[in-house]
Amino acid sequence: MKTEDQMKYTYKLGRKCEHCDAPIADHIHKLRTHCPREVMPDGSIKNCKDDKHTEIKAKNNPPFDAISKHHKKMHCQINLLINKIGDEVSIEDLNKYGIQLHRPVQFRKEGDRFIYFFVGFKITQLGNNHYKIEHHDRIF
Ligand SMILES: [Zn+2]
Repeated sequence: MKTEDQMKYTYKLGRKCEHCDAPIADHIHKLRTHCPREVMPDGSIKNCKDDKHTEIKAKNNPPFDAISKHHKKMHCQINLLINKIGDEVSIEDLNKYGIQLHRPVQFRKEGDRFIYFFVGFKITQLGNNHYKIEHHDRIF
């Protein structure tokens, strides 16, 4: 069923909203690609252009959110480990607290020492099963 507005106007050009596929009347400015912003009867705002961008964001963010979540978790776990055990730990300690040395933000080898950078902390391997945790302020 056509709304009153749709009866009044022509739709020969066949333009459609890029978000909801509703027809866009011929007389509406040709640069307009979405329905006009509209207040619905329930008071909510219909804004196809914003909705489309929100959807694109929701679709594109998850992989980045997962990385961010991982690094927040690593940061919290390292903090916990320092508070409970101290800043010199073994691989068993690191494992017990779920710290994943294979997933740092950055990794470096200085001489024969491996250094794993996480957000706020770096973990240096001093010996075979001996790691030292230190704070750092590096922004990656
Ligand atoms: Zn629309």
